Amino acid sequence: MASSFLFNSMKIKVIPMKKVIFSIITAGLLCFTACGKKIDSFQNEPQSRSFFAMDTYMTITVYGENAETALNQAEERVTELEKMWSVTDESSEIYAVNHSGGASVAVSEETAELLDFSLEISKATNGALDCTMYPILTEWGFTTSNYKVPTDEKISELLENTGYEKIRLDGNSVAIPENMQIDLGAVGKGYTGDLVTEVLKENGIESALLDLSGNIQTIGTKTDGTDWKLGLRSPFDEGSFATLEVSDCAVITSGGYERYFVGDDGETYWHILDPETGKPAHSGLVSVTIVGKEGRLCDALSTSLFVYRA
Ligand code: ADP
Ligand code: MG
Repeated sequence: MASSFLFNSMKIKVIPMKKVIFSIITAGLLCFTACGKKIDSFQNEPQSRSFFAMDTYMTITVYGENAETALNQAEERVTELEKMWSVTDESSEIYAVNHSGGASVAVSEETAELLDFSLEISKATNGALDCTMYPILTEWGFTTSNYKVPTDEKISELLENTGYEKIRLDGNSVAIPENMQIDLGAVGKGYTGDLVTEVLKENGIESALLDLSGNIQTIGTKTDGTDWKLGLRSPFDEGSFATLEVSDCAVITSGGYERYFVGDDGETYWHILDPETGKPAHSGLVSVTIVGKEGRLCDALSTSLFVYRA
């Protein structure tokens, strides 16, 4: 059989745990698997590369003859994308957009594509995903680790300059209002996984595991033809609370436990904000994992469904 649908190829084993409010949402029925296909045993030794990029540690593990070249190109691609999308690098495209004083800025194909996709998901989720939250995230200290709870007045003032619908994207030209700042952090790592997957496949890689910190993407199966086994981290402790068995899939998680601080009032405040209030999202979910074919879709949905209010 050349392919089978996600539900056939994935087994979910959930270890019961009290009070876990958890949602695994399968993003479409599009995950194909190389069922039963064995890759020659001479390719069994993996090669791994770990590096720091996009504010996180990434590890890419690949099997295959061309592993070294594939890894070099994969790392180069991540560096290239980071240089386009960094909010703080003064030479990045996003920095140029954020500091253009309202003027139109020409961006690369990749940036236009990612922004267009992000805006599409913003519309589809009634604004739960909104890439204009950066100034408010900074006010909370999530971009600098100098955490503080902003006053309601300050948040209201900053909310006047947010709103994805104010972004103008025309082909490869982007224009945002003068006092707005955008950040594609909620979707960028997922899209990076997709683009790195392309690079690896172009190099003939048929078996690989990309770990982009919370974002896992797999190419094919393990070399013995069995699915990759992935532990899902518990939102409450260091352990994992479920195991997924997948192939050719992205498995992407967003949770309030990833980056947070406890305020003087004893409340926990996390890094995913509800764009309507400018405050940490309280949908009742503590962690959302999306499984699907496309990293960018899984990444966009994991963040937006964490926010989503019914
Ligand atoms: P990760 O921290 O693993 O990248 P996410 O993909 O869920 O997790 O992205 C969270 C990041 O997205 C936050 O650190 C913040 O920069 C940004 N963000 C927070 N809330 C929103 C939101 N409602 N819409 C879009 N981006 C957001
Ligand atoms: Mg995300």
